[in-house]
Amino acid sequence: MARVVKRAFRYRFYPSPEQAAELCRTFGCVRLVYNMALQARTEAWTVRQERVNYPATSAMLTVWKKTEDLAFLREVSCVPLQQALRHLHTGFVNFWQKRAGYPSFKSKKRSRRSAEYTSSAFRYRNGRLTLAKMAEPLDVVWSRPLPEGATPSTVTVSQDSAGRWFVSLLCDDVIEQTPVPGAVGIDAGLGSLLALSTGETVTNPRHERRDRAALVRAQRNLARKEKGSANRAKARVKVARVHARIADRRRDHLHQLTSRLVRENQTIVIEDLPVRTMLKNHCLARAVSDAAWRQFRTMLEYKADWHGRTLVAVDRWFPSSKLCSACGVLTEQMPLDVREWTCRCGVVHDRDLNAARNILAEGLSVIACGGGVRPQRGSSRTRQSSVKQEPPGATQGIPVP
Ligand SMILES: [Zn+2]
Repeated sequence: MARVVKRAFRYRFYPSPEQAAELCRTFGCVRLVYNMALQARTEAWTVRQERVNYPATSAMLTVWKKTEDLAFLREVSCVPLQQALRHLHTGFVNFWQKRAGYPSFKSKKRSRRSAEYTSSAFRYRNGRLTLAKMAEPLDVVWSRPLPEGATPSTVTVSQDSAGRWFVSLLCDDVIEQTPVPGAVGIDAGLGSLLALSTGETVTNPRHERRDRAALVRAQRNLARKEKGSANRAKARVKVARVHARIADRRRDHLHQLTSRLVRENQTIVIEDLPVRTMLKNHCLARAVSDAAWRQFRTMLEYKADWHGRTLVAVDRWFPSSKLCSACGVLTEQMPLDVREWTCRCGVVHDRDLNAARNILAEGLSVIACGGGVRPQRGSSRTRQSSVKQEPPGATQGIPVP
């Protein structure tokens, strides 16, 4: 069976000075239009209790462009501006449906610099991508090929805080769904990044410790620089570069890992666990592993969906660490610092491996009972529990697969 999915392909590119100037102008206009529309919508609601929709903000944009003060909005492509209004509307819909907080203003320094072009505002032909208002195609580094015969439907241009330029092309891709026999349980390990029920432990990406030390040095250096000085600006770029390197390596690592897990396993069981509450610890390492777990889960969810795999999230109150995966007896206590323990049945357990095995068994029993629900992307925040809540006693004695 094959399935067509929307997939983003991201590449670096190197703009000419004119292209960079055009894009910077566009980013600025996108931010301004977004903020003005947000202001208008907020005012309409707080003053007159009126809901302003997307077409109304689009009409406002037309008016703004005609005023003398905002005439510069006409100089950039109108498509990214319209898209910004659409994104704002999506933000409001998410807010109304209680999936997100109230939309916030885009800041010049902190917000992502990006512009989205739909098909009327770019041309993609013979591997050359040209944006509206530009004479020359972008100098894109095609680090991997687009799917055969693919036509991008949306192109997003962005610049990160380290100054690097990226273009992301949204294309239809055909994915073969071939079932495989494997099943795996995954525990967000304490000692390592992840522990798998197969006995494998997944560590943090290579170089991360060294990168993190470099980050601490760069941040200390930045803190010593005088505010507003040229050296401070330089030091800030340096910090951003180290941040970007850490994020890149981690994303690559998680992509490889999730692709492999999905390739090898038909059933994948994770804990429905906000790492945030598990590790109430504000040190840098933990903040990073928190973000990694969320990113890992998001990737796993969409890849499992693409390949027709079953992803089960077992209830967060399932006592995965306290249960013996050999005999099913529940121990009373399991302090966080216990790495290895011996059950009354005599089996010596590695804490994380035992937990991963229990998670797999619980997931399989949930599927067998028909109580399992595939976690939907983005719904985890509102979903109370996808899995039947059972008292701990009821899950005792599950056979180890
Ligand atoms: Zn036991």
